[in-house]
Amino acid sequence: MLEDKNPQLTPISQYGEFGLIKHLTENFSFRNESTEISIGDDAAVIDPQGQKVVITTDVLAEGVHFNLGYVPLKHLGYKAVAVNISDLAAMNATPTQILVSLAISNRFPVEALEEIYEGIALACERYKVDLVGGDTTSSTSGLVMSITAIGLEHSENLVGRTGAKAGDLLVVTGDLGGAYMGLQILEREHSVYLANPNMQPEMEGYDYILQRQLKPEARTDIKNTLKELGVQPTSMIDVSDGLSSEILHLSDQSKVGFRLYESKIPMDPLTMTTADELNLNPVMCALNGGEDFELLFTIPAADYDKIKNHPDFTIIGHVTPVEEGNYLVAAGSNELIALNAQGWDAFLNR
Ligand code: ADP
Ligand code: MG
Repeated sequence: MLEDKNPQLTPISQYGEFGLIKHLTENFSFRNESTEISIGDDAAVIDPQGQKVVITTDVLAEGVHFNLGYVPLKHLGYKAVAVNISDLAAMNATPTQILVSLAISNRFPVEALEEIYEGIALACERYKVDLVGGDTTSSTSGLVMSITAIGLEHSENLVGRTGAKAGDLLVVTGDLGGAYMGLQILEREHSVYLANPNMQPEMEGYDYILQRQLKPEARTDIKNTLKELGVQPTSMIDVSDGLSSEILHLSDQSKVGFRLYESKIPMDPLTMTTADELNLNPVMCALNGGEDFELLFTIPAADYDKIKNHPDFTIIGHVTPVEEGNYLVAAGSNELIALNAQGWDAFLNR
């Protein structure tokens, strides 16, 4: 995809800034009534229709958050949107609009940006959001993408991090640790490739965890599931940095403690066997790996019967008074192990 390797690719300079924005965004259509004015004006205008406006933003920097050696650009565009939508899902809000800002180095041809926007368009379709603006500039060191996502919601439906109460149950959606295991496989095969570009990567059989890493989905479905079950979480967060770190955030914001049962942490069989293959502890991958983008939430104990048999949910622990601290209850021994935040940290992992 680099220009010097392929002379047919189009340099960005051929379009110019305004032409480029127009080219990349002209096929986007609009789905939400709340979108009043979008790309092409000085700013977007959104009509909140009597609801609260929920806003979140995330920056992704090449070399820190993604490696274009093994992340396809289309996946990058999709994932950049999905991770923002996940933050809205964690507030129990309905996603409606996004803005996309790019700082691009001149080694990216127009075709590379087209691929990123293909991924963005897919995500807009999947999550029913409108691309309403952004900014485009140049960068001297790699690609930086910043996405802002906007959601609307009636205030009584919103769920923050502050409402967990002692006695509540701790629940997680889906399974954990898979995205981290997928990353380990991608990094392993990438270093094999760097050592010998003629080697074929061995990715077969790892589909589920590779997809967890490369094309994560925001759990926007959970809002409806909980509504149908008649369950309103008392607190909620998305699992972006690892289960351990997210529990500590809920603890901190709700002023409560947590007991997490090791034996209950949901993991896919492929996550377990891959961890085994790579000599990693799968529980550590779930606790500290991150990027699973599942939802972690607390519910009143009285709602136990409503969710206990639901395939999307696993009850993994409960809330205690703050004095009792945050502990993992080890499988088998019932030993209490203090939870600490070794989750993914952009400043530590370099
Ligand atoms: P301004 O000079 O007022 O900042 P720009 O020329 O940066 O305006 O942007 C023109 C229009 O295109 C605006 O509506 C802006 O939101 C939109 N836009 C700019 N860059 C992008 C992008 N990368 N993706 C989507 N929309 C963009
Ligand atoms: Mg601008």
